[in-house]
Amino acid sequence: MTAKRVVIVGGGGAGDAAAFALRKRGFDGEVVILSADRDRPYDRPYLSKEFIRGEIELPKVFLHEEAEYSKEKIELRLQESVVGGSLADRILSLQGGGEVKFDTLVVATGGTPRRLPDAPDSYNVFTLRSLRDSQTVRDALKRGSRLLLVGAGFIGAEVGASARKLGKEVLMVEAAPVPLARALGSEVGEVYASIHRSHGVDVRTSTTIKDWHSYGGRVVGVTLSDGRREEADVVLIAIGIDPNLDVPRALGLPIEGTGVRVDEGLRVADDVYCGGDIALHPHPVLQQSIRVEHWEVAKHHGRGIAASIASGYAPVTRLPYFWSDQYDVSLEYRGHASGDDRAVWRGDKAGLHFAVFYLREGLIRGVLTMNDSKLNEIGGKLIEARRPVDEKLLADVSTDLSTLVPAPTP
Ligand SMILES: Cc1cc2nc3c(=O)[nH]c(=O)nc-3n(C[C@H](O)[C@H](O)[C@H](O)COP(=O)(O)OP(=O)(O)OC[C@H]3O[C@@H](n4cnc5c(N)ncnc54)[C@H](O)[C@@H]3O)c2cc1C
Repeated sequence: MTAKRVVIVGGGGAGDAAAFALRKRGFDGEVVILSADRDRPYDRPYLSKEFIRGEIELPKVFLHEEAEYSKEKIELRLQESVVGGSLADRILSLQGGGEVKFDTLVVATGGTPRRLPDAPDSYNVFTLRSLRDSQTVRDALKRGSRLLLVGAGFIGAEVGASARKLGKEVLMVEAAPVPLARALGSEVGEVYASIHRSHGVDVRTSTTIKDWHSYGGRVVGVTLSDGRREEADVVLIAIGIDPNLDVPRALGLPIEGTGVRVDEGLRVADDVYCGGDIALHPHPVLQQSIRVEHWEVAKHHGRGIAASIASGYAPVTRLPYFWSDQYDVSLEYRGHASGDDRAVWRGDKAGLHFAVFYLREGLIRGVLTMNDSKLNEIGGKLIEARRPVDEKLLADVSTDLSTLVPAPTP
């Protein structure tokens, strides 16, 4: 263990996990988190669910008590934006002029929600990423009764479900013919659209915003591409994120497409690591480079980076995993497939208790389950086995899929 001072840029899921995991592994050098955020690290998934609905309050949203940072000797510096630096000189420059030295650097800067170029900059038009964003949308939903959601991805869908639970009218406008089709395939996307519709959300697919109507500095409605005019009190634009690559770019880290190219152990160069939403990771089990925007993955990246710093290089092998809770439906997903992969269904689609296995070249690449955690875990093991499976057996509910999982080699 040679590093003396680890500096982590980003106080989100990956950065915070890296800091605490370093201590857990006995690292006794300095640990510094530089975070642009105004708040100490928090559990982002709550922001579209329990927190926005007012079911949990602030202390519960934070990942750690404030005192835990000092107890673990983690120097947490909030509202500190890194704007550049030099890897050769092992130094970072801060907005406002300061500098911070490091021996080992971790970059985990997450992403920024995209905005629609023609959306007005009004006080009732929001995006959702930070705790403050969630608080603002939550307050706005207390005052308004009609929510217009632009985008039917996970964040839009979760906020839509939350708003319905709060008794709000929800109009969801989605440009694609089917929500979530690119990631999960059209058939699963249709299931999602019908779940929202059955809970009273007005889902309009193949539809975009043609005109925005404002009055007194706020948006009061829109005209849609089908010519219909709709009123709105609160607008949330949820059309995905752009990974925050300014710091990696300024430091000259290798960027490929929309991510920072790391190796299997999330290392970018000697003593430089990258994790979370910005990392393009050659996954050793999936044998494919992937960049994923999921909470558990970010936390696991943080822990993996800490393992490499504290105890030597270690490939990160765990399969990507995410969940999404909407209404009383719990979706879980393991692996990494595309909506275009061959989908094998198993179970009760109408009763919302099913699994979908995504196959490419005979191998299972991803598994989605609705309201069936156990099957999701077994699906993960089948992905890890990387063996061709008989589709008929997968689809047949009388097959105990755990019998298809090969025994671990001694
Ligand atoms: C509302 C919401 C709900 C979600 N729900 C789920 C869910 O249910 N399941 C799921 O799997 N995933 C969910 N996600 C996605 C998940 O939260 C992200 O994938 C995860 O937070 C990524 O972690 P990260 O550490 O890479 O980035 P982040 O958590 O975004 O952290 C990035 C950090 O970097 C800081 N930063 C950025 N630039 C700089 C700079 N220049 N200098 C210093 N600091 C900087 C930011 O302030 C922030 O602290 C959700 C996301 C949101 C927004």
